Amino acid sequence: MSLLNFGFTQEKKGHGVAEDQCKRSADGPAAADEVQTKNKKYDTQRKRLFLPQWKTKWLWVVYDEEKGVMFCQTCRKYPSLADKSSPLFSGTSNFRVDLVKSHQRSREHEACGMRIQHESKERATTELKGRIYSSIQKGLETVNLSFEKLQPTAPGPSLACANFDGCNVMLGQRGGVISQIKEVIPTALEIHCVAHKLERAVLDASKSCPQM
Ligand SMILES: [Zn+2]
Repeated sequence: MSLLNFGFTQEKKGHGVAEDQCKRSADGPAAADEVQTKNKKYDTQRKRLFLPQWKTKWLWVVYDEEKGVMFCQTCRKYPSLADKSSPLFSGTSNFRVDLVKSHQRSREHEACGMRIQHESKERATTELKGRIYSSIQKGLETVNLSFEKLQPTAPGPSLACANFDGCNVMLGQRGGVISQIKEVIPTALEIHCVAHKLERAVLDASKSCPQM
């Protein structure tokens, strides 16, 4: 049994869109179209704001407070790769989240993002090379040597070869210690340490032999 039978009254439904939705179900397709048009008008006319949390969600989004626009700093960094017709390239005050999301998915934005990744990788490699180079220099100084003194043209003994274990840091041809040495002394030869190789061989052999 309903409480209405005991004098209770039913609370009126909400206003605005909720009320419209009630109307839509009650009044048929014509009323539904009217509601849709009204909602669309409201959606296009309402003033949207840039949400600060977008900057942490999409690190490429920048909000220019002075101009009141948001833009993509990644695409602006590479205008030759970016889609210059994108509102996020020129800067837009249309603060719609779907606009940000569709820009994120665009081919041009992805290309710009990949370029940034590539450049930061290159920068890291260059920094690592610099650190390896200065470490070698410090090591040589501890035994009163330097790259200059070890040049084949310099008086006294020169560097003919360098002996390493087989790890990439030492023998890597792109960023390893030997590649750094060869940039200064191109005639230097790298040798994979024989004693070290023997040690590895003995260790491997012992693992496969239960008696050891
Ligand atoms: Zn972009």
